[in-house]
Amino acid sequence: MLCSGTAALHLALLAADVKKGDEVITTPYTFTATSEVAEYIGAKVVLVDIRNDTMNIDETRIAEKITPKTKAIMPVHFGGHPCEMDTIMEVAKLHQLTVIEDAAHCTPAYYRGRPVGNLSHATCFSFYANKCITTGEGGMLTCHDPDFAAQVRKLRLHGLSKDAINRYKSKNNWRYDVEQLGYKYNPTDISAALGLSQLQIANTLHERRQRIAKWYMESLKHISGIILPIELPHVVSSWHLYPLRLIPELRQHRDALIAFLAEHEIATSMHFIPLYEHSYYKNKYHWKSSDYPNATLSSESEISLPIYPQLTRASVEYIANTISKFFSSI
Ligand SMILES: *Cc1c(COP(=O)(O)O)cnc(C)c1O
Repeated sequence: MLCSGTAALHLALLAADVKKGDEVITTPYTFTATSEVAEYIGAKVVLVDIRNDTMNIDETRIAEKITPKTKAIMPVHFGGHPCEMDTIMEVAKLHQLTVIEDAAHCTPAYYRGRPVGNLSHATCFSFYANKCITTGEGGMLTCHDPDFAAQVRKLRLHGLSKDAINRYKSKNNWRYDVEQLGYKYNPTDISAALGLSQLQIANTLHERRQRIAKWYMESLKHISGIILPIELPHVVSSWHLYPLRLIPELRQHRDALIAFLAEHEIATSMHFIPLYEHSYYKNKYHWKSSDYPNATLSSESEISLPIYPQLTRASVEYIANTISKFFSSI
C-alpha cells in the first residue's frame, strides 16, 4: 500500500527503470496523474488514441508508436472497464516493454476471468475519496516480481535499508542505511486500517454498482440521441463511472444537458478533458486534437451520470426521465 495512486504510478515507473529521455506510451483519455509521473522523471509521454466503444487505449495502434526509446506502456482502464490486456501484453513482450496499468478505477474489475491486478508487470490502484473503495487518500501497487516489489517498498520509505518496524523489532538493531534516493510515499496506519475494512465490503459495493448500471441500461435504452456505455462480454467492469455519450450529431447539446440536469438537482461530471487540452501539456508537447479523433469526439459528447452504491432505483428512473425530457425539448 502507498499514500496515493499517483505515488504507485510514480514508483512503478522508477522500479521499471524508466529514465529521463525514455518514452512512455499512454492514452490521452485520462487524468493527469497517469502522465505527470512520467514528467517527474523527465520521460516523454507518447499518446495513442482511444477505441470508440470502451474509450480505452486502442491496443491495435500501440505498436506504431513504439521507438527504440520506448520503455513502458501505461494502459488506463477507463471507468473501470479493463483494456484489451492480452494484446497489450503481446506487444510489450515483443518489444520488451514494461506494462504498468493505471487501475485507479478498478477495485474490482476482471479481464477474461482474472482480476485486474494480476495481468501485467505492475498494477496501480487508487483509494482516493471518490474511488470505488477509499481510504481517504491511498493507493496500492501489485506485481508478480519480488524484486520489483522490494524496490517499490524501499523507494516508498526514503530508500532506507529497513523500515521502522524492522529497525525496532529486535534489540540493538538501530543502524540503517539510505541506500538510494527514496520518497515519503508510505500510507498512514489509519488509512491502511480503513483499507482493510473497505476490502471486506468491496464485493458488495461492486454488486450494487453493477445493479445500478443494469437499471440505467433498462431505463435509458429507449432514449434516442444517446450512446450507453458497454461492457464487453469477456470483462467485468467495476462501474466506477457511468459514462453516457450524446450521439455525434447532437454533441453540441452536451453542456446544455449538464446544465438541465443540474437544474433538476442531478449532479454530473465529465470524463475526461483529454491531456492535450490542458495548458501544461499543450505548452510542452504541442499535441494536436485532430491526431486523436476518438478521444476528441468522446470528450465533446461525454457526461458521467451519478453512480454510487446507495443510489436507488427511483433515483435512476428520475435521472432517466429527466434526460428523456431534455431530448424531447431540443
Ligand atoms: C484518481 C486517479 C488517479 C490518481 O489516484 P490518486 O490516489 O488520487 O493519486 C490516477 N489515474 C486515474 C485515471 C484516476 O482516476
